[in-house]
Amino acid sequence: MNAENLLKEAEVLQRQLVDIRRTLHQAPEVGFELDETLKLVERKLEEYGLQPQRMGRAGLVALVGSGEKTILLRADMDALPIDEEADVEYKSKNAGKMHGCGHDMHTAMLLGAAKLLKEHESELKGCVKIEFQPAEEIFQGSPDMLASGLLEAPHVDAAAMIHVTAGMPLPSGKFLVAGGGVTSTSCEQYHITVKGKGGHGSVPHESIDPITAAAHIHIALAEINSRELDGNSFGVFTTGCFKAGSASNIIPDTAEMWGTIRTTDPENKTGELIRKRISEISSGIAAAYRCQAETEFYDYCPCMYTDPALCKDVFKYVSELPGQRAIDLSAVSGGKAGGGSEDFAFVSHEVPTVSMFLTAGSSLDGYRYSQHNPKVRFDDSILYVGSAAFAHLASRWLEEHC
Ligand SMILES: [Zn+2]
Ligand SMILES: [Zn+2]
Repeated sequence: MNAENLLKEAEVLQRQLVDIRRTLHQAPEVGFELDETLKLVERKLEEYGLQPQRMGRAGLVALVGSGEKTILLRADMDALPIDEEADVEYKSKNAGKMHGCGHDMHTAMLLGAAKLLKEHESELKGCVKIEFQPAEEIFQGSPDMLASGLLEAPHVDAAAMIHVTAGMPLPSGKFLVAGGGVTSTSCEQYHITVKGKGGHGSVPHESIDPITAAAHIHIALAEINSRELDGNSFGVFTTGCFKAGSASNIIPDTAEMWGTIRTTDPENKTGELIRKRISEISSGIAAAYRCQAETEFYDYCPCMYTDPALCKDVFKYVSELPGQRAIDLSAVSGGKAGGGSEDFAFVSHEVPTVSMFLTAGSSLDGYRYSQHNPKVRFDDSILYVGSAAFAHLASRWLEEHC
């Protein structure tokens, strides 16, 4: 499978890939509720001669080739629960849902790669496991697939994912390959409920005001950052939502706070410390003000850990495609982890993993918005480049490691 021919073959598929992507874009689905998306993906894979198997709550896997080693290629399929504001002719027809993270692009690209790999199956030196996962945006799809046996039968030896990105001042169709190490932070949500005793605003002594306690908790939590974290560790958390009360003259029963914790610690020791202290400080301060605080943590996603050797190999493979010279992501990011989390991180803690970005819309060409903005647009003229890269990196990795 030569890189030049592969790219040409991928280019022939371009129109089909755009059709698939725009069909998905018009009918976005979220979380695990991906009925129509799954049907389309399944139909296409069967049309290409593969035998897709449903996995977990709403995922699919398909195998191409066979042998001792297996590489996993992954696309996520879920959209965001937002209204699309982008001015595109294939705008979302599902109110309140939008492919604003580009997962429609990922799905189309991986379908293209599946077709290319199937056509070259006899040349593969090992097995390629193709994964379509649900619920990335809520960090539940990847753990659900893992719990359902994603990395076994056959056992997976290496894993790769591509995420499109728009709004950067880089031409479309360029790969930014992770350089190894932590490339995105962990993420975990917290919710603090402070319970007091409601009453009339004119008689505060007959009530127990949860707003006062919550306000003191909010200020005190900031001391974790300034006084308790090791200066060499990275840990940041933000209470982004604070709700209490419904009228100016009523003391409410409860006050609530929601926030997120992010760290770059693969073992999450920093996250555990932050968690423990958020709970302790909230309960202690609530008690001082005669209230009770309950803290819960949920939707944990670890930081993404990319394998240095695999990243180096994939950087080389991607750069073999004509017209392509991969960019080292760590050079662009200054070696720092990006803020956005990614649930493929769960896989990255199990098997050597590489992640990369594919630019799909330059800010210099009018693609002003980035992922998750309701106005974001992606340049889908580069879909075939993503398909060729997926297929090429898989076949090259198998060639060099089997
Ligand atoms: Zn997203
Ligand atoms: Zn995404």
